[in-house]
Amino acid sequence: MDKHQIWQNCLDYIRERIPEQAYHTWFDGVALKEITAEAVNLAVPGKFHHEWLESKYNSLITDAVDRNIGRQLLVQYTVESNTSEPDNPPTMIPKTRSHERAYHNRTQLNSRYIFENFIEGKSNQLAKAAAISVAENPGQTPFNPLLIYSSTGLGKTHLLQAIGNYTYEHAPQMKVVYLTSEKFMLDFINAIQVNKSTEFASMYRNVDMLLLDDIQFFQKKEQTQEQFFHLFNELYQQGKQIVLSTDRPPSELTGLKERLVSRFQSGLMVDIQPPDLETRIAILMKKAEDDGLEIPFDITEYIATGIKDNIRELEGALIRLLAFSTLRKQAITMELAQKVLQDILGKSAFTEVTIDHVIKYVSREMKVSERQLLGKSRIMEIAHARQVAMYLAREFTNSSLINIGYHLGRRDHTTVIHACRTVEKKINKDPEFGRRIERMKRELDPKAMIHNL
Ligand code: ADP
Ligand code: MG
Repeated sequence: MDKHQIWQNCLDYIRERIPEQAYHTWFDGVALKEITAEAVNLAVPGKFHHEWLESKYNSLITDAVDRNIGRQLLVQYTVESNTSEPDNPPTMIPKTRSHERAYHNRTQLNSRYIFENFIEGKSNQLAKAAAISVAENPGQTPFNPLLIYSSTGLGKTHLLQAIGNYTYEHAPQMKVVYLTSEKFMLDFINAIQVNKSTEFASMYRNVDMLLLDDIQFFQKKEQTQEQFFHLFNELYQQGKQIVLSTDRPPSELTGLKERLVSRFQSGLMVDIQPPDLETRIAILMKKAEDDGLEIPFDITEYIATGIKDNIRELEGALIRLLAFSTLRKQAITMELAQKVLQDILGKSAFTEVTIDHVIKYVSREMKVSERQLLGKSRIMEIAHARQVAMYLAREFTNSSLINIGYHLGRRDHTTVIHACRTVEKKINKDPEFGRRIERMKRELDPKAMIHNL
């Protein structure tokens, strides 16, 4: 068997054992470079991949290799830095290069909002897929209008502009207009004041693709809505693509005329949810990589753990950290990251312990891998650690027993109850164990976590 085939078999093995999304994020760009007498060498696309694979998936990769090559080998990594970056890599600190300004003036689009740097996760997969298909076939899909909704900072503007940028690149003859609803309204009011509302209307009528951001601004603005309603109908009838965004579910757009809302419903409405931890880490890593920054992995993880539901804040934390480190001429350390995060989040961020925290903590404390905790093994140490995790999860999180059981080995809630009783009994019988649990509780305690910072 050649090494390509061997690696493919390993990948198949891995793919069956982790979430699809994680698989694509971390394994798509990995290749088997060589097999020596004592090691396999994997080529990975970046330093972060290396760190992540080594810290999270090493035992899984070792298992896969073991099975497919038939002997225990070390896993080594070679970082193959990707040299095929675009000329104009997206950055999070806006650069005012002159050609970018010119591009912006021509299109009103920001060239850093593209599909390629929009990291995909379960929470935004559908929205991204819909946006891509609209960009590829404007006006030709059932997704007209496409309405994307989510709370703030989760990527609506990014996706709308990515559609625009894609179209501009692939079909430059198309007239694409991106604007916010606020701007639409202000322009409209302005046009009325100078008696040019007819011109205003006819200007938009020639558009091939209308990307209108934040339509919640239209609430209660009846005249603007009326104007938009006519425009919408006209474009729609000509098969022109319309993409809209709003910061709340359409059903909560009070102050928007019924007939307008029902127009939106004739297309596709998709939401974006807050990203899960892996997606958040991937986003931070991508930002850092695009900017050529080296940030230690545990710090990325730390930031991503602290900031959960706003990607703009996530980026903000990173920028702030960099600014801090430059200003103070300090290396980017965990301590610095903690300070920055504490400033941003206040103490509230640390008042909540999640099952994830508990699992990570117990894994570290009891020297059992996360995968083993999440798995079904009945080996005594593992089963014991899992019971402790269940007990701590019940003490510290608001999760239901069903949810706890689901996360820890797909058990049902009776197993969780049983685990908690077993741990309680053991605490009473075995003082040393009792003290250990006490210490674990103290360390997990969110109030204590603040003191530790
Ligand atoms: P919204 O319009 O929903 O308030 P934005 O589109 O402005 O949010 O996104 C906020 C920031 O987060 C932007 O800088 C954007 O590039 C970034 N961002 C959002 N989602 C993603 C993602 N999935 N991958 C990479 N960056 C993202
Ligand atoms: Mg926005």
